Parts: sequence; structure tokens; C-alpha cells
Amino acid sequence: MMSTSSLKVGTPHPIWKTLKCTVSDVKKGITKCRMLTGTYLLQVNKHKFKQSNSPICRCCGSEPEDIVHMMTTCSSLFYERKESYDKIKQCVVTSIGLNQWNNIFNDKTTITKLILDCYTLRRYPIKKRYKRGNISVYRTVS
Ligand SMILES: [Zn+2]
Repeated sequence: MMSTSSLKVGTPHPIWKTLKCTVSDVKKGITKCRMLTGTYLLQVNKHKFKQSNSPICRCCGSEPEDIVHMMTTCSSLFYERKESYDKIKQCVVTSIGLNQWNNIFNDKTTITKLILDCYTLRRYPIKKRYKRGNISVYRTVS
């Protein structure tokens, strides 16, 4: 899930720049880094290494708990996720337009990557939307 293009020797990952210097934010950063690196233990991982009898999510009980489930579909996290997701989507749609949003972010894995590390999405040709009167003009940015 983590983009290696944002990694530079001697420079902290951009995730650490988004956090405040508080104990709770550092704990959030550690959790997010574990999710990014695939070392955050979810039921699927525990089951794979025989630390759990089932890969099914213990919160909702509806499907295997992997990172995509946790970030996009777990019904027990719906309200916690909705507020942040709506803000992220609005920010991206404002920048690239709804058509590109629908073209790029049409699967749960891509949405998960956006939530965890938006640097992974640099490989997509993003067209930035500009307004000229009532007309939207799109220009590819890198
Ligand atoms: Zn669940």
C-alpha cells in the first residue's frame, strides 16, 4: 500500500508531517505506518499464521477482515469512516472533477490506497480542473 516514491533517506515519510507532537498522534502514526507497511495485524493475518480460528472480521462478522475491508466496507466503522471519507472525496473531486474520480477511484483497493497514502496515486495522469466562466477546462498535471 505504501508508495516508495515518497521515501527518501534521511527524510521522514510524509505521514509524520501530518501529525501533531502528542502521544495520541504518535500512536495514530504508528498504527497508520503499520497499515501502510502491511504489518498491522488483522484477522486475515492472524488466521494465516494460526493465531486465530477465523479470518472473519470480529466487529461486523460479515467478511474477512483485511485492510480493504477495514478501510472501506466494515459496517461497524461506517460512521467513523464516513466523515473522513467524504472530506477526502470532496477534496479530490474539487481538484480533478467527478468524472475522473469515477474513472480512477472505482474500486475499493484504490480507495484504500488513497486513504492510507495518496502518494501511491501519482502514477495516474491527473487532470486538474480549472473553471473559465461556466466552462470546466482540464489540464494534465504531474
Ligand atoms: Zn468488519
